[in-house]
Amino acid sequence: MSSLREKLRALEELQQIDLESHEVRTALDAVPARRAAVEQKVLEARRAYDEQKGRLEQNERERRQIDLLLAMERDKVKKWEGRLGEIKTPREYAALSREIDIAKKTNESQGEQGKLLQAAYGELQAALEQKGELLGTAEDAAQAGLAELDRAAAEGEARLAALAGRRAAAATQVDPGLLAKYENIKRRRAGVAVAPVVGSTCKGCHRNIPPQLSIVLQRADTIETCPNCHRIIYSAAAVNPPAPPTA
Ligand SMILES: [Zn+2]
Repeated sequence: MSSLREKLRALEELQQIDLESHEVRTALDAVPARRAAVEQKVLEARRAYDEQKGRLEQNERERRQIDLLLAMERDKVKKWEGRLGEIKTPREYAALSREIDIAKKTNESQGEQGKLLQAAYGELQAALEQKGELLGTAEDAAQAGLAELDRAAAEGEARLAALAGRRAAAATQVDPGLLAKYENIKRRRAGVAVAPVVGSTCKGCHRNIPPQLSIVLQRADTIETCPNCHRIIYSAAAVNPPAPPTA
């Protein structure tokens, strides 16, 4: 079985691995929402494009209707004008003349309306072209963004697998009772079960430990917990002594 110093080192490694795994898993969990946000931008650009296209098509429909109506109405006026010559009474002549004038005025205003629609059509077309370009840009950006997310997700999964391998190796250094204690504290202490003591400060809660405990920690041959945060503590200097200076 490993020495207590080795066990403390293994616990320290488990802690680092678990924190890193947690970070990677959090990033992986965020991927679906990030994908949705990227896709949402394309949906919005497509909606803007479709709306603009709808306005252009509406303009076309109205212009076609006006053209059709105008052709019919002009035909009618022509027929009425032909009939004027056959009319016998001045009274009937005046009545038909009045109808013709009204029809001509209506046609004139319809013609004006058609011209306005024609003028607006160019602007609608230019706006549609612009929305099309924006949609294309959004689609390109989304393609790149989604590819990047896929790459990051694959990398995250690979890191998790590597961390799981390292964790299994580190866990063999710690006996089951100590591992259970570690897991138990980790659950209750926001994922951090092991903390180094630097100087006389516990790095888990940033409070000082009693001097006698500091002395015990220097020996690194027992498992101690912080009296304040109840995390497993070890002396950073005793467990990982600085490498001797190379001459
Ligand atoms: Zn503490």
